[in-house]
Amino acid sequence: MVNTTSQCDDIIDDYGLKGAFCKLSGHCGVAGVTAEKESASYVFLALRALQHRGQESAGIATSVDNQIECFRGMGLVHEVFNTQRLATFKGTSCIGHIRYSTTGASELKNAQPVVASSSIGDLAIAHNGDIVNAGKFRDELREKGWAFFTTTDSEVMIRLLANELVNTGGDIFHALQNLMRVIIGSYSIVLLVGGKVLAVRDPLGIKPLCIGKLNDCKGYVVTSESVAFDAINATFIRDVAPGEIVELGMNRYKSYRNFSGTVAPNTHSACAHCMFEWVYFARPDSIIDGVSVYEVRNKIGKKLAEEHRVDADVIIPIPDSGRAHAVGYSEGTGIPFREGLIKNRYVARTFIMPEPSMRETEVKLKLNPIKSVIEGKRVVLMDDSIVRGTTMRRIVQMVRNAGAREVHVRIGCPPIISPCYLGIDMKTRSQFIAKPSDSKRQDYTRVAKMIGADSLAHISIEGLVECIGIPKGNLCLGCLTEKYPVEIPGERTR
Ligand code: SF4
Repeated sequence: MVNTTSQCDDIIDDYGLKGAFCKLSGHCGVAGVTAEKESASYVFLALRALQHRGQESAGIATSVDNQIECFRGMGLVHEVFNTQRLATFKGTSCIGHIRYSTTGASELKNAQPVVASSSIGDLAIAHNGDIVNAGKFRDELREKGWAFFTTTDSEVMIRLLANELVNTGGDIFHALQNLMRVIIGSYSIVLLVGGKVLAVRDPLGIKPLCIGKLNDCKGYVVTSESVAFDAINATFIRDVAPGEIVELGMNRYKSYRNFSGTVAPNTHSACAHCMFEWVYFARPDSIIDGVSVYEVRNKIGKKLAEEHRVDADVIIPIPDSGRAHAVGYSEGTGIPFREGLIKNRYVARTFIMPEPSMRETEVKLKLNPIKSVIEGKRVVLMDDSIVRGTTMRRIVQMVRNAGAREVHVRIGCPPIISPCYLGIDMKTRSQFIAKPSDSKRQDYTRVAKMIGADSLAHISIEGLVECIGIPKGNLCLGCLTEKYPVEIPGERTR
């Protein structure tokens, strides 16, 4: 019997944030633990460490006597779960999820884990990524009379998996392999099935996933980022390999990989890690696919100093994401690094002024300049990326109003010119301030004018790849190059 409960009041709608104070959004965080005690508490703490990956909803599921108990709610992890709630989870195997919606609306019914009954008992799934051909499967299943209760890819996957369990006589590994042969896209998944935690990474390794060992009791853990291991006193073992299935046990973990044919036929490369994990999404204290996120951001700053040096008096990061890049730019140029913009951490993430005319005030409430750092100076502002450019325009104006003589903007990512279909919330070309022609000519004068800056420059694609230190062919750069690692209707493959 599936027991899914949800927090129904205090539903938070995060959508307004996108227009007014726009940063790229997307991704989710997943965690799975098998432990001799407190498995739900470990998952709770891991999710809190991953909170930057999604703030809309949180959920935890555990398995007791092959029955799944699941609780999901809207809001931050600590808003959804308290100690009393955690104490109700009795199982030794547990999975959890935090969500930022990329498919499906921001509402409670789309929170994860998603739970379903199958021929071998209850299943629960938590997923980070986007399945490009989920719509096709949804339509096919609907035609066969299936009713869906969410609008997420995760529900499509769990239903396909339940079908495969019937086809394979209840062999979960065989069923997962069959699923991996047909779904196309990005997925790092944790599954609760038959009282076990399984973890699966897509054949291109687009989304991160890593394995650790608990130090305070017997057990193993998988999470989206290694930073969660620090929070729960676990030792990092390794990244889950692209296309690998991992089964967590109390005393060991098992790995299943190199299944022939698990790469969907229209997949075009060996692996394709999302470059945005290093540029912006992952926490700087994480290590993704063997590469330190902080070190990459620092190198990006230094590379930008080589590629686009400018005479200036001070370099100021846009907090928090531009900080490590700005330190690198300062080290590379010798221009002093100063904190000239202070972020108000106590304005709710959902805060948005109802009237467009009040949006300037809204930015001021969230970010405030330190006049003594800025007045009379030639300022370099550093950020990780530009999407629409609306927020950057407001910040440039704010810095000018604080008395800057010149404002130069340096960006730690090449221009974003194309949508992401693999898990980041940027779906239409019209939303980007950069045009493919700007990118091709590496001439950013048009956009500099639009944001009111004296100059604007982005790191080059080659420079970014060099800083990440992973061969270009093993990275997804789709939103920068308009060439994707999997077939997407209407787009080019690389
Ligand atoms: S298209 Fe861009 S954001 Fe999306 S997975 Fe690829 S690199 Fe990451």
